[in-house]
Amino acid sequence: MLLITAASLPLQARNLSVQVDEPRQSLAGHVRYLMTDVDTELAEVLRRPASEWQQAPDDINLGYHQQTHWFLISVTNAVAEHLDHYLELGYPMLDSVAFYQVRQDEIIHAVETGDARPFGSRAIEHRNFIFPVSMPAGSTTSIYLRVQTEGALQVPLMLWQEDAFHAASERALTLQSMFYGILLVMAAFNLFLYFSFRERAYLYYVLIVTSTLGLMTGLSGFAFQYVYPELPGVHHALILTIVPFSQFAMCLFAREFLELEDLHPGWSRIFLAMMAAALLCMAGALILDYGLSTRLSVLLAIPVALINLWAGIHLWLQGDHNAKLFSVAWLALLTGSLLTVLNKLGVLGSSVLTEHGIPIGASTQAVLFSFALADRFNRQRDAYLQEKQNSLDAMEQQREAERALHHASTHHELTGLPNRTIFERVTEAALRQNPELETGIFLLHLKNFDDVNKTLGHKQADTLLQDFAQRLNGLLSRQGGALPLDAYDHRFFCVSHVEGVSFAFTVQGSDQQAILARIDALVDQFSKPLEFKGLALELGLVFGCSFASETEREPQVLLRQAFIAFDQTVFGDGNLPVYAPEMNPYSPRRLTLMTELREALRTEGLTLHFQPQIHLMTSRVAGFEALIRWQHPEHGFVPPDEFIPMAEQTGLIKPVTRWVLNEALLFCTRLDEAGCDATVSINISAVNLREPGFCEDVCALLKKNRVAAQRLVLEVTETAAMLDPILSLQALRALRAADVRVSIDDFGTGHSSLSYIRKLPVNEIKIDRSFVMEMDRNKGDATIVRTTVNMCHDLGYEVVAEGVENENIQTLLKTLGCDLIQGYHIARPMSSDAALAWLAVTSWSKTRTPVTG
Ligand code: C2E
Ligand code: CA
Ligand code: CA
Repeated sequence: MLLITAASLPLQARNLSVQVDEPRQSLAGHVRYLMTDVDTELAEVLRRPASEWQQAPDDINLGYHQQTHWFLISVTNAVAEHLDHYLELGYPMLDSVAFYQVRQDEIIHAVETGDARPFGSRAIEHRNFIFPVSMPAGSTTSIYLRVQTEGALQVPLMLWQEDAFHAASERALTLQSMFYGILLVMAAFNLFLYFSFRERAYLYYVLIVTSTLGLMTGLSGFAFQYVYPELPGVHHALILTIVPFSQFAMCLFAREFLELEDLHPGWSRIFLAMMAAALLCMAGALILDYGLSTRLSVLLAIPVALINLWAGIHLWLQGDHNAKLFSVAWLALLTGSLLTVLNKLGVLGSSVLTEHGIPIGASTQAVLFSFALADRFNRQRDAYLQEKQNSLDAMEQQREAERALHHASTHHELTGLPNRTIFERVTEAALRQNPELETGIFLLHLKNFDDVNKTLGHKQADTLLQDFAQRLNGLLSRQGGALPLDAYDHRFFCVSHVEGVSFAFTVQGSDQQAILARIDALVDQFSKPLEFKGLALELGLVFGCSFASETEREPQVLLRQAFIAFDQTVFGDGNLPVYAPEMNPYSPRRLTLMTELREALRTEGLTLHFQPQIHLMTSRVAGFEALIRWQHPEHGFVPPDEFIPMAEQTGLIKPVTRWVLNEALLFCTRLDEAGCDATVSINISAVNLREPGFCEDVCALLKKNRVAAQRLVLEVTETAAMLDPILSLQALRALRAADVRVSIDDFGTGHSSLSYIRKLPVNEIKIDRSFVMEMDRNKGDATIVRTTVNMCHDLGYEVVAEGVENENIQTLLKTLGCDLIQGYHIARPMSSDAALAWLAVTSWSKTRTPVTG
């Protein structure tokens, strides 16, 4: 027991008299204080003269003041009963608080606590500092409080009746818990949303909510009481870092939510700077002293809030929908904070709104942010669905265009009948599927059509041809048992319009005689003059036929044989000429031709011709296509169309292609010497694409001739590329990887679609010359070329048109935006010498100026 003499203190004058009917009494005006050293003891304080004690302000907030302060309150119980009251120190953030109750110089109760000590040091378990004050009837008690803290020295004091205190405390706790509960649910829900959508804004929002929660529970002492009561160190560190962290989270969220990085880089940088400042404050909290660090964090809150609001309103005014609710949310927090500040300054009276402005503002902000997120999500989803719909529409349009293009390129414009491409494909499939059946290929030609044309005029003649085609197709489909080639618009097509006024169809059956008998009947019908608009017209129908044999099952060859047979017929003899090998003037030659080709390869009997390609935009010579020429000692010129397919069949194409490649690269070096950096295109066949090591050979030849890979273009027909898609794709990829350019030749004649070609590593598309040669006269061809150019450009390919035979076509192609042209109008294929001579005099400029010396 400590005995102390304190008679000299004139305390009575400021005594607080306890009112029995007041549940709580403010101590404003009844508190005096004095500053001492840290280690000054109560005994010494009691000895201090009364003059050293100063009157404390009504609202005790002495700011950042690290010195030890003593507060003195005298309470008199004037009633005739013993009173047990609580003294509440309503600011839980004080480092060290000591409480002494002194009556008649005797310390009757002492408590040492503060938030730098474990929570267990509290006299009453409560987030604020609560001390029991026991007052016998008619007594006067002196209460000494010693307070020392690194933070703000706030000492709001209140004297409570015990019951009233518990009731009020419970009400406050319920309210607080509700508020914390709301924040927790928001955090959990948005965390769930984050994991569902992987959208970072939700995660940052969770950071905001948890930091707000941390801040509120930290400042109110709630977290210290319930979460880490034994860890005052954690409490201390958390209080210091949570404010800058919450500012960091707010800026992080704003940057993501308003998409500043992508849409407003200027704002984004400002927010990054604020985030950096917040991080610095967090780091500072660990090294700077408490007062400075908290002051810095609180100071930072002002620009953070203003910049968030400013950015929000600025973007809102610019029409950014996301910014609207965002700004309103910030306004809510700022209004709440302002109300509290004004209340503290005494401008506004006390009410729930003014006293709890910050938590109410913060929770409103949190709720509004989550509305904003939901709103943004809705808008993004609508935009996404719209975009998806648009891209589906675009895809559908592209597919439609492709279908139309495919149809146009595989059907005759006038009669709508399938063309030669379809005919050969379907016949080939039928030959493969039914090897046991006899297969006859029939050709039918209108010999007198030219005369009809002259008599009736083009328009009428066209109608006649359409009529004829329909009749023939109808008849064959019904009676002839011809192979259906195609079906569209609910109709079957058995007849192919192979060219001009020639039609073809295929019939399969168990024996040749039966087939011929069936078609004979048809021949009879069509041998009669045709009724057309009251005229009896003699169309001059001639037939030719060829049957597939064990050695010949190639539709292309069979069709040629049918042509040969038809050449032998005389119109009107009613006969159906069937091809026989002796009819074929070429066939003996065919057998020896390959041996001779091998020979020619050895004895330099082959030459390579070059045909220039012009880049339309720059009017410059951009390339040359190498075309093989064979001058046979006996037969004279043998067209490549004839011997190349044979070379492919016999495998001779492999050395042929090597030879072509080498010659072409030699020509390339000669171009270099002439100061021209044009490319050289060579034609390679499907066989080459399937050859193992082809790409390596190409690279070796490039290296040997010292030609850059980019100067070489390999032309592959789409049919060749599709023959063995997996191997072809591999080969093309390897070539592409070696920087060799790849071009799809004869585009439009095969049956692949751009969708397939898109999968190939291709640089260039060459529209087949059959679509180009007549495009100035034939609207359908012009349409095909235009669509092809556009679609290829959409897919990033260069487009070459070959078969440009006149100025009109050249102009037309330029207006269509075609990149390169090639054809007789520019120059015919020429020997390498002739090509270089042409280059020297042509008006098309070279790609670079000649190197002199
Ligand atoms: P291709 O690759 O489509 O070659 C273009 C053909 O069109 C060449 O016929 C060329 O002389 C011809 N041409 C060029 N401009 C015009 C024009 O304005 N009008 C017309 N009507 N025709 C034009 P060519 O030289 O008879 O070659 C025919 C086909 O033989 C080539 O078609 C190609 O598939 C093949 N071929 C030619 N040389 C080689 C080669 O070295 N190797 C391989 N594998 N195939 C070759
Ligand atoms: Ca070609
Ligand atoms: Ca071609």
